[in-house]
Amino acid sequence: MAGEKTVLVVGGGISGITAAVEAAEAGCKVILVEKLPYLGGRVARMNKYFPKLCPPTCGLEINFKRIKRNPDITVYTLANVENISGAPGAYTATIKITPRYVEDHSGTSKCVEDCPASIPNEFNYGMDMTKAIYLPYEMAYPMNLVADADALRKAKVSQDFGAFVESLQAKGIRLDLDAKPESLTVQVSSIVWATGWVPYDATKLDTLGFGKYPNVITNVMMERLASPNGPTGGQIVRPSDGKKVYNLAFVQCAGSRDENHLPYCSSICCLASLKQATYLRDYNPDAEAHIFYIDLRAYGRFEYFFDRVRNDDKIRLTKGKIVNIYEDPVTRDVIVEGEDILSGSRIRSTFDMVVLATGMQPTTSLEKVPAQGIQYDDYGFVISDTGIHAAGVTKRPMDVGTCLQDSTGAALKALQDTVGR
Ligand code: SF4
Repeated sequence: MAGEKTVLVVGGGISGITAAVEAAEAGCKVILVEKLPYLGGRVARMNKYFPKLCPPTCGLEINFKRIKRNPDITVYTLANVENISGAPGAYTATIKITPRYVEDHSGTSKCVEDCPASIPNEFNYGMDMTKAIYLPYEMAYPMNLVADADALRKAKVSQDFGAFVESLQAKGIRLDLDAKPESLTVQVSSIVWATGWVPYDATKLDTLGFGKYPNVITNVMMERLASPNGPTGGQIVRPSDGKKVYNLAFVQCAGSRDENHLPYCSSICCLASLKQATYLRDYNPDAEAHIFYIDLRAYGRFEYFFDRVRNDDKIRLTKGKIVNIYEDPVTRDVIVEGEDILSGSRIRSTFDMVVLATGMQPTTSLEKVPAQGIQYDDYGFVISDTGIHAAGVTKRPMDVGTCLQDSTGAALKALQDTVGR
């Protein structure tokens, strides 16, 4: 299918969406491929994002409308590009599409609350559970249910499962656990690779307590915790006992700028913690935040935001290296230990909860582009530009605004590949 002047965009986060709509609105056909069941990527899971500190709906909704209204954009979700061959102007790509296992004609597009199986809610980074037949989030695009076939197959052994399937049919929902993946081959003239990033795996930070103590969370989890559509409805409370947080610590460079983990600076996690400190202060004016940093990096125009935050006397900044985090087993409070870099004194402080400011790891460090000739730096970021155009965090750590600029540039390069063909 497809062919001349068709751009394949891989990755349905903010970079991929931007590249897709820009290329399509300039006259190309676009095939947009996303491995999750919904578009929006990491941005969809934020509470607010820079530069305007608006919720994700304000940027994503307009882009979803642009996609929906444009017949030249074809979207495949739950899809992975498995192989690419060819050269600029004439690529062949194979796409594997996993079924959703459910067809919804109910007209409601809501999670199936009487589903007998539940799964960790991936959208909320596993901080709560969702039903195994679910809508990923309330403004998901496409707004279609998806089913976790493995969880439902386990539930199938229960005597009531047949009755449950019948009740679904009565609502206009058809479950098909025997649906098979499909394979699709497409001919395209150009490719944009925008598979983004994953948060660095904080369980690898042995001494910082993530995965051992429930009140040690990561910065991406904090976005969900503060979000009105998050696991607590936007209440910033401790995972261990639901207690309102009054005293929160942020540990910067958690695994970043560290030869044993991510040796580079992710550039955005200082700003993320400054922003998240304001979430806490807005939610609970009596609360205090304490940011432990090695260097606080707020580049360019974000300096103003840094100034605003540091003028809040309930947000304390300490230049200090945290080396150990553990829990008081009675109170579930979290104790952080380290060294104050300026005074040389020892840090030992107790908090209700701790947020680890982990960095961005390019997805391409874990899953390479399935094509010949792609070059990567030592950390897995794509550094070549040979007709498969990397966009956004596939190239280097960057904020959302820079991703928009970069992916618009990638779309322009993709258009140039199609000229005269
Ligand atoms: Fe560390 Fe800040 Fe750089 Fe993130 S942005 S790696 S927290 S210095």
